[in-house]
Amino acid sequence: MDRVTQELLARLNEESVLKRVKEEVRKCAQVFRYDEKVDPEVWQSRLYAANGELSKALGSLGETHRIQQRCTELILRIQTLLGSKDTIEAVLAELVRSMGFDRASFLEVSEDGRQAIPTEIVTADGRGSRLEGQALPIDDPAAIPKDHPVAFGRGEGHTQDRWVSFFTVASIVVSPVVEEGRVRYLLATDRGPKPAAETLATDLLVHQLFAPAFGLLLQNDRLFKQAQYLSVTDVLTGVSNRRALMDTIESVSREAVESHQTFCVAMLDLDEFKKLNDECGHQAGDEVLHAVAQTIRTVCRGDDVVGRYGGEEFCLVLPETSLEEGAEVSERVRAAVEQLGRAQAPRFRNRVATVSVGLAALRFGGEDHESLLARADAALYRAKQSGRNRVHVDSEGAAAR
Ligand code: GH3
Ligand code: MG
Ligand code: MG
Repeated sequence: MDRVTQELLARLNEESVLKRVKEEVRKCAQVFRYDEKVDPEVWQSRLYAANGELSKALGSLGETHRIQQRCTELILRIQTLLGSKDTIEAVLAELVRSMGFDRASFLEVSEDGRQAIPTEIVTADGRGSRLEGQALPIDDPAAIPKDHPVAFGRGEGHTQDRWVSFFTVASIVVSPVVEEGRVRYLLATDRGPKPAAETLATDLLVHQLFAPAFGLLLQNDRLFKQAQYLSVTDVLTGVSNRRALMDTIESVSREAVESHQTFCVAMLDLDEFKKLNDECGHQAGDEVLHAVAQTIRTVCRGDDVVGRYGGEEFCLVLPETSLEEGAEVSERVRAAVEQLGRAQAPRFRNRVATVSVGLAALRFGGEDHESLLARADAALYRAKQSGRNRVHVDSEGAAAR
């Protein structure tokens, strides 16, 4: 070790090394513009300033991270809104609440891209908006953001001015909501007439993260609702399918027993439908089935449920309805179908579509719904036997009330 140390010291002592160090320091000083004449206090103050810049940069990095985190949480939270009654409104409300916006608007872009119409506007104070449904003209469709958010500020150009004057704000952040590769919708958020300047960059970041997730959610929401609809709907007639119908009868029955109320079930069967099918074809038959189902639905109340029980049989569930009221509804339905049948007869070789109806009400004290359905079915059989195109009421449910 001694020998090695000796050698190193010998080298350091050589003037060439020290000269070299001096030379390099001078070059560095030039690069960073610290020439030897600058007094150390200036150096120090510059160092402090540099430190300040560094901590600011780190701070904004932290802020960006915090916004990203809040957006991630928001995006996760809106997933739970999938399948809501009004998904767009619910998502906008969540966005306004968690990001502190003054207002969030959802706009539909016209086919030609020449205007955008707000279809949903949510405000922080829930005051609603008269702008809903009003058209915002877009002078330059090319200025619509295609794949990233854009901030429109007052006085920056004609197109932008339209936005800020329409919403009466100083600035607004707008991002595209893409569906099937086309910008069909726009998401816009603002912070009212006097936003803080530094929030604009933050809002752009929020949009950048949020808008694509929102678009995806809307797509899933539509698919979800479509699947949900198909799972409970009879595709030919548009009324409840058998499974949904049975679920309805079960739940209405349970509620009726719990609240000591009654309800009615009417079984409907098209009369001599085989003949119509045979004479006019299956397609004509399908058409009649659809029209009859829609007619039944239009003469019922909103709470009543129409379902297709099987082939040309329908079932009508009338919650909180006495047998007398049920008989009235049944007769109204029968008459409406006959009227439809008469109107359509010329198209179906003068065959008038009619229905026979069997009505029963839940027995006092309750009964299982299979038994109720069986009584309605038996009543229907009686209606058929006594000449068709008529209502037969099972008297059992009435006696108890
Ligand atoms: P009734 O008055 O005694 O009820 O006579 P009906 O001819 O209506 O009764 P039947 O049970 O003999 O025939 C029912 C017919 O309904 C037979 C079938 O072709 C027709 N049908 C059942 N489901 C459909 C359907 O989805 N589309 C069409 N077009 N016809 C159907
Ligand atoms: Mg029939
Ligand atoms: Mg039948």
